[in-house]
Amino acid sequence: MKFNGVDFDRYFKDYPNEEGYFGKYGGVYITEELKKAMQEITEAYYTICKSRKFINELRRIRKEFQGRPTPISHLERLSNKFGNVQLYVKREDLNHTGAHKLNHCMGEALLAKYMGKKKVIAETGAGQHGVALATAAAYFGLECDIYMGAVDILKQAPNVARMKILGANVIEVNDGAKTLKEAVDAAFMAYSKEYKDAIYCIGSVVGPHPFPMMVRDFQSVVGIEARSQFLEMTGELPDAVVACVGGGSNAAGMFAGFLNDPVDIYGVEPLGRGAKLGDHAASLTYGEEGVMHGFNSIMLKDESGNPAPVYSIASGLDYPSSGPEHAFLKDLGRVKYDVVDDEETIDAFFLLSKLEGIIPAIESAHAVAYAIKLAKKMKKGSILINLSGRGDKDMDYIIKKYGIRDVK
Ligand SMILES: *Cc1c(COP(=O)(O)O)cnc(C)c1O
Repeated sequence: MKFNGVDFDRYFKDYPNEEGYFGKYGGVYITEELKKAMQEITEAYYTICKSRKFINELRRIRKEFQGRPTPISHLERLSNKFGNVQLYVKREDLNHTGAHKLNHCMGEALLAKYMGKKKVIAETGAGQHGVALATAAAYFGLECDIYMGAVDILKQAPNVARMKILGANVIEVNDGAKTLKEAVDAAFMAYSKEYKDAIYCIGSVVGPHPFPMMVRDFQSVVGIEARSQFLEMTGELPDAVVACVGGGSNAAGMFAGFLNDPVDIYGVEPLGRGAKLGDHAASLTYGEEGVMHGFNSIMLKDESGNPAPVYSIASGLDYPSSGPEHAFLKDLGRVKYDVVDDEETIDAFFLLSKLEGIIPAIESAHAVAYAIKLAKKMKKGSILINLSGRGDKDMDYIIKKYGIRDVK
């Protein structure tokens, strides 16, 4: 399928190009020393990850350890509530550890093992990526250093406990605001000193090349499974596919299965409290081109051009940029990016829970909220939603802040 000059029959061969660009987005904007480390990972990726042996081992792990394939569920009661459009969810909440992040962490850690590395390094904000990586490290017997801001350590006690139980070292970062940004800087600093023995494992389709490509490829299992499951279940393709976008990994994985199909694709960003800078994290919707954390993409900037402060009720979505592939697909018009706010998200959280018996992660509830709005507009057809994770981690916070919301 050709779309605005891009041939989607060979999209995964063409994008990213050898320098790691999706159109003008992506690339490698880091120190010369770190560039060498990225080069090593890129070469290893092309030789090791494309080998039969690696592919077969990852396939076996996904089946026997992660519990893949995750199913697709038809949301019959939720669909009936809004008319004739049929809603379906891809159940990444049923992936081991309760979210999609383990898909790329297992790939990254397996690559580390094949490269002979002894350690994996990463930062974490809310702790979700840290827990997924600590799980993968435990499975493969790798050391695991997770850098985390002191403020986040206090806020995310259960995830800190999980990481420690899994055997990871949680390293407290006390610079600046003591949150994610400082943790990223500290993790990169540690990696630039340790890259002979360690590999950096990023948490989404962001950062310098090859990470946006590598994480997308590891996550594409979601879209590939979903496409064939949906065909088997209904005999056709969905009319629309919807996923929430923070850094953009669950969306990139889901979209990968459908880019070459006549399917409308929607990425959903968090509008938070509203459209004022600082009240949301809708970077593709309101941002502009710029470089941060080693890559060129669309980002939210403050007056001096630095990454702007962002907010979302979903801690997994509050990042001031998104992966370069999303910026590219947005400019191309192949994927439409739109927003839902906190309130719409909370309604969707309770609706899915009460009508379907599935408590979604608050990140994933953004995608559900958008699909409901879309269903009201579409009148007929089908929508497939990527349910990126389960909501156990969010329940305490939501009950405290909103109580039990009556959604009939
Ligand atoms: C981390 C997270 C996200 C956001 O990350 P992406 O890279 O945009 O997918 C979404 N959903 C859940 C459940 C998460 O844990």
